[in-house]
Amino acid sequence: SFKALIINNINNEVIAETQLIELKDLPEGELTIQVAYSSVNYKDALACTANGNIVQSYPFIPGIDLAGVVVDSRHEQFEPGDEVIVTGYGLGVSHFGGFSEYARVPAEWALKLPQGLSLKEAMILGTAGFTAALSVLELQQNGIRPEDGPVLVTGAAGGVGSIAAAIAAKLGYEVVASTGKQDMHGYLLGLGVKRILSREELAAGSKRALDKQLWAGAIDCVGGQTLSSIMPKIKYGGVVAASGLTGGSELAMTVFPFIIRGVRLIGIDSVMAGLDKREKIWKLLAGAYKPLMLEDLYEEISMEQVSERVGIILKGQSRGRTLVKL
Ligand code: NAP
Repeated sequence: SFKALIINNINNEVIAETQLIELKDLPEGELTIQVAYSSVNYKDALACTANGNIVQSYPFIPGIDLAGVVVDSRHEQFEPGDEVIVTGYGLGVSHFGGFSEYARVPAEWALKLPQGLSLKEAMILGTAGFTAALSVLELQQNGIRPEDGPVLVTGAAGGVGSIAAAIAAKLGYEVVASTGKQDMHGYLLGLGVKRILSREELAAGSKRALDKQLWAGAIDCVGGQTLSSIMPKIKYGGVVAASGLTGGSELAMTVFPFIIRGVRLIGIDSVMAGLDKREKIWKLLAGAYKPLMLEDLYEEISMEQVSERVGIILKGQSRGRTLVKL
């Protein structure tokens, strides 16, 4: 038997408990993996709350990403001993996830760990890093170059934000970060950020349909009022990659940034991204995109500490990434 974090919904309250289970309790799948690391993402925090609308049935093991070693394979492309990364798809949503010493998943969800990353580094990055890299790549592929002007990163003290800021700075972009946390300024400057705006200042911004052109691009994981207020300030031909909703899911904006300035708003999805894209992104994360200061980006916790961490994340009080050692 081995340890897993099991959540149950009791009278509309989600209770998490570390329990001993057995391999036969795991769902179907070609690969059985001994999990080395998982991480706590915003979506995991939602999964561990009653009205988070992530988990459909209980008891359940959350954890939307994992890195570990294959111990049993019924698929020709993998063999015991292979180091793999699994993110997205149904993991930790409809299929038992990564907060477990062992996991079993369909082989097509797994990716071999690229050279240049350890299992630990892969989960310091995790789904947040994958999403950040997808966002940076969209800016690059849509022609935004460092010389075009500053790039804004919102929710910069969080997982996606921190890693996006670190990658963009490494690639030579002038990164402007917005954060709600006064005490994160030192941390963000350490990631290579050049200037910091307050969350309130940004969200309160102008209500004009078009405003002073400030940023060549933006990476936004906050959504809502924040994203709405960025759009009128994007430079002509600029690109915004939108991945999140910590600040809200509704947008209040006009079409003018699109039709007068040719601004492009690009949606980022990490969950269903195909294998080609996953391979490309993880290779970048292991090389050109690998943040220089990975060590500063995370805090390591145990399975037993996940519940407490969920509360901190939902209050918007976490910093960087939370690595879970199994
Ligand atoms: P996280 O580590 O908790 O970071 C979220 C950050 O959002 C916080 O650190 C905070 O940044 C900011 N924030 C929190 N509450 C806020 C509020 N009420 N108003 C404005 N800003 C607020 O979460 P994460 O794991 O990086 O995920 C970030 C977002 O991206 C989530 O919405 C998540 O669901 C989404 N996401 C989407 C995908 C995808 O495939 N599209 C993949 C991964 C994540 P500051 O402290 O700097 O203000």
